Amino acid sequence: MISFYPGPSRVYSKIPTYCQDAYKAGILSVNHRSKEFMKLYQDTVSILKQKLKIPRSYTILFTSSATENWEILAQSLTKKASFHIYNGAFGEKWFNYASSFHPGNRKYSFDLNNELSTDQIKIPLKSEMICLTHNETSNGTAISEKFMRKVRKTYPDPLISVDATSSMAGVSLNFSLADAWFASVQKCFGLPAGMGLLIVSPRLIEKARKIGESGKYNSFNTMIKHSENWQTSFTPNVLSIYLLKRVMEKAQTIDQTEDLLVKRYNEYIDLFSKNSRFELVVKNENVRSKTVIALQGSSKEIDKVKARAKRNGFLLGSGYGDLKSTSFRIANFPALENSEVRSLIKFFKKYK
Ligand SMILES: *Cc1c(COP(=O)(O)O)cnc(C)c1O
Repeated sequence: MISFYPGPSRVYSKIPTYCQDAYKAGILSVNHRSKEFMKLYQDTVSILKQKLKIPRSYTILFTSSATENWEILAQSLTKKASFHIYNGAFGEKWFNYASSFHPGNRKYSFDLNNELSTDQIKIPLKSEMICLTHNETSNGTAISEKFMRKVRKTYPDPLISVDATSSMAGVSLNFSLADAWFASVQKCFGLPAGMGLLIVSPRLIEKARKIGESGKYNSFNTMIKHSENWQTSFTPNVLSIYLLKRVMEKAQTIDQTEDLLVKRYNEYIDLFSKNSRFELVVKNENVRSKTVIALQGSSKEIDKVKARAKRNGFLLGSGYGDLKSTSFRIANFPALENSEVRSLIKFFKKYK
C-alpha cells in the first residue's frame, strides 16, 4: 500500500536501514547528556540549516509534536493575548489551545479562496503574537510569502509564529519573515511520527527571557537553557533526531525539492481539472497548497474512490474537519517516489 495520506505519511524507504545503523552505532541507548548526543544535536541542526536555508542566528529545538509547539508558544511567549489568522481546522485548533491559556485572544477567520491582504485585517495593538498557519492541511490552502512580508512590515512589534507542519521541508520558506516556525516530522520530512521541531529567532528568545516563565514541562526558557549546551530538558526521541539527520543529509536542497513538488502539483491540477467526478476544494489557484491537494465530491463518491484506490494499493487521505465526508486529500510530499506518483495519476486517468 502506498500512502498518500497527508500525515502520518509515506516514510522514506531508507528508514529501516537507518534504524539498523542507529542500533549498530549504539544510538538507541545513548545518554542524552553525553558528548555523542551533543554532537548529534549539533550536526542535525547544521544540516537542517544548510538544506532548508534557515538563518544561522535561529535556534532549533526538538519537541514532541506540532501540538506541543502551540502550547509552548501560548504558555511561554504570550502574557495576555495572541491574534490568530486562519481558514481551517488546524488554525482553529491552535486558536483554541492558545485561548485556554489566554481567553482574551482574538482571531480573523477567512474564506478558503480569500487571498489575504493586511488591509482587511485589524490586529489589536495589545496582540503580543500573530499566529499564522502557513499550510492548512485540512483544506489544502497556503498563505503567500507576499502576505507574510506585508504582515511583518505592517506590524513590526508583535512576534510572528507560523505553523508550517505540512510544508516545512517540502517548499522553500523565508524564515526571516517570522520569529517561530514549527512542524512535526510525519509530514514533509517523511519520518515516523513522534517528534516536533521549533525554530526560533533571537528576538523571540529575548522576549521569552523578559517574560521569564519557567519550571514547567513545556517552559521555553528551560528548553533554551539546555539547547545552549546541545542538550534537551527531557530524554528526547534520539532515534527520531538521528533519522532526521540521515534523511536531511541525503535530501536535495529545498529549492530542488520544491521544483519537484511543483512539477507534480501541476500534473495533479491538470489531471483533476479534466475529471468530472471531483472538484478541487480550492478554486483560487493563488491560495492553493503545493503539498496537500484536496478534492471534493458527494460523500458517496468519496467513499467509493477511497475504497477503489485502496483495492489498487493507494491509501488516499480522508477529509478533515468540516470537509471530513465530502473530500479526500493527496499528500504531495517529497518521500513519495516518481513511480508512485505516476501510478496514482494513471489510476485517476482511468477512473470512471
Ligand atoms: C498535522 C498538523 C498538526 C498536528 O501535528 P501533531 O504532530 O499531531 O501535533 C498541526 N498543524 C498542522 C497544520 C498539521 O498539518
